[in-house]
Amino acid sequence: MAEDEGLQTRGEPISEAGLSPEQLLQGQQRILEMVAGGENLQRSLQAIAAFSEACLPEMLASILYYDPYEQRLRRGGYGQLPDSFQEAVDGLVPGPKAGSCGTCAFRAQRVVSEDVFTDPLWDDFHDFCHSYGIRSAWSSPLISPNDQSLLGVFGMYYPDRRLPSPADLELVDHMTHLATLAAERHRRDEERRRQAMEDALTGLGNRHLLQTQAGELVAQAQHAQQPLSLLFLDLDHFKLFNDNFGHLLGDKLLLQFSRQLKAFLPTAQLLARFGGDEFVAIIPEPSDQVSERLHDLLRRLDQDTLLIDHVRARLSFSSGVVDLAAVNWNFGQAILQADTAARQAKESGRHRIQMVDAAQLTAVQRRLQVGKDLEDALRYGLVHPHAQPIVDLRTGAPLGMELLFRTRTGVLNGIDPQLCIHVAEEAGLIDAIGFEMLRGACRLLKDPAIASSDLLINVNLSVHQLLREDFPDEVAQLLAAEAVDARRICLEITESRWLDPDGPSRVLLNRLVGQGFVLALDDFGTGYASLLLLRSVPFRHVKVDKTFVQELEDSDEALALCRAMLEMAKAYGIQVTAEGVETPQQRRILEELGYIRCQGYLFARPTPLEDTPALLLDMQRQARRSALD
Ligand code: C2E
Ligand code: CA
Ligand code: CA
Repeated sequence: MAEDEGLQTRGEPISEAGLSPEQLLQGQQRILEMVAGGENLQRSLQAIAAFSEACLPEMLASILYYDPYEQRLRRGGYGQLPDSFQEAVDGLVPGPKAGSCGTCAFRAQRVVSEDVFTDPLWDDFHDFCHSYGIRSAWSSPLISPNDQSLLGVFGMYYPDRRLPSPADLELVDHMTHLATLAAERHRRDEERRRQAMEDALTGLGNRHLLQTQAGELVAQAQHAQQPLSLLFLDLDHFKLFNDNFGHLLGDKLLLQFSRQLKAFLPTAQLLARFGGDEFVAIIPEPSDQVSERLHDLLRRLDQDTLLIDHVRARLSFSSGVVDLAAVNWNFGQAILQADTAARQAKESGRHRIQMVDAAQLTAVQRRLQVGKDLEDALRYGLVHPHAQPIVDLRTGAPLGMELLFRTRTGVLNGIDPQLCIHVAEEAGLIDAIGFEMLRGACRLLKDPAIASSDLLINVNLSVHQLLREDFPDEVAQLLAAEAVDARRICLEITESRWLDPDGPSRVLLNRLVGQGFVLALDDFGTGYASLLLLRSVPFRHVKVDKTFVQELEDSDEALALCRAMLEMAKAYGIQVTAEGVETPQQRRILEELGYIRCQGYLFARPTPLEDTPALLLDMQRQARRSALD
């Protein structure tokens, strides 16, 4: 072999190529336009290789791109050489004895092998040369003019022994220049892409990478029915470390940990720092296997403290793992679950891995489905309120009724209304549902039989609705449009921690009272601040929760509580309704305690609004008849 300096040259002019200077210029121009126009690397290199071959008819060209992250040569462009040639050299690792291209990349210098069968650089590649009919090979490095880094290698092959002439070398210079431009541009684009997707501190992926690539991975695995797990990992006590030792050391700790994490998750398809001290990985393994890996890592961290500069740190983490094969989730849903599981792990004492199990998954999925069904029900006008009478338990005469949420959709049949309401609250649909229910109340109040009575219509209000300040104005508008008197409507509000006696909801409730609405405190006895609430908001009714009523027969405590609640309400001048009365015994006990207002299956089940007036008339008639008896 001979190198640049010791070249013997044959001195033929460039015209040997069979291309005129104009053709040469035109060819170069065309390629420059390709590169400047952002043509992809392989196509640009392909064009350069083909053009080189046109200039030097016996020569075969192959241009390889150097990937600095993998430190390998990658297929670039070639002319007449068969596909298999590039496939064979793709991934070639530069080395001191790796043919002329591999060696050229290794030395970053031109390498000329006049005869590959005698040149020791080619010792390991004789078969290869035979099969492609190669006798001599010249390789020139593509070097970035900016930072002198290696961009690739331009390889030229001949079927006979040969050394380059000055004209050959001049042409090679032209071609490597073009190839360098193309490779340089590609390198810059890659860098930019990489930086946009990479976490600068740890070199792992960043949130952007997750967002752009995770969805695809999830969809692919689900389609191929392959195992896939998502893990969310949160370091324990990282903030403490940061506060104590400063951000610089904090960063070093994150970097060290990220390396360990990477080592323990060798199969991860995607590993990213999600933010601060949170990491996310997508791993093509079942979740129990991933959890096993994480336990290994936890054990390792228990045994070996990390040395960060002069500080020894014992590290641990809390993690949530979701089995993505178990359900048809998109990435957004999955990461929410994994995050929640990691938080649960943290709350239950840290240093642990929380699996999102199949039952949880089904429950969440069901909620998602219910959310969609509710949205449809609203969109297609399928909300179908029912009403359940509230009666005088001594006579059975109706005193009012409570509207309860139901739909006409088959898909929501059999789904617990309480679940529907919870989901609606989560999904931001509760306002719309609340309005449908109020509209139902208006409809009922316009029925002649009900309009002429003094029956109150109870409508349940979600505390979420009370968090919106414009709620009173909106209801006022609705009632005005429907010409309905607010005094005929009782709003039932469940005690909850949102219902802060000192909070904005109290102001809002008082505004509603000012508008004429009657207020009832629902599920009385189960909540948080009964007494305070009763003092600070003018409730006219309380509804004793059905759990107390249902224990009346067996539990002295329930009996005592029912008595106490009645006494207390009386003291405040508030009317009491007992809910969930199912048996004559319960009715008898309540009557003995002094209860009057009752609601329950014993008297009537919830019925569709359109049947309610008839039901109420019927109950009135029966009550009158039994009073006469
Ligand atoms: P709630 O306000 O306490 O409503 C009373 C619940 O007791 C209703 O359940 C009713 O069907 C049920 N019930 C009545 N009598 C009996 C009985 O004798 N035995 C038993 N076991 N149950 C009886 P439902 O309709 O399933 O509603 C459940 C909860 O969902 C309601 O509890 C309320 O918190 C909520 N909800 C229902 N409709 C609405 C609505 O329109 N808006 C809001 N925000 N919440 C609603
Ligand atoms: Ca209620
Ligand atoms: Ca209730």
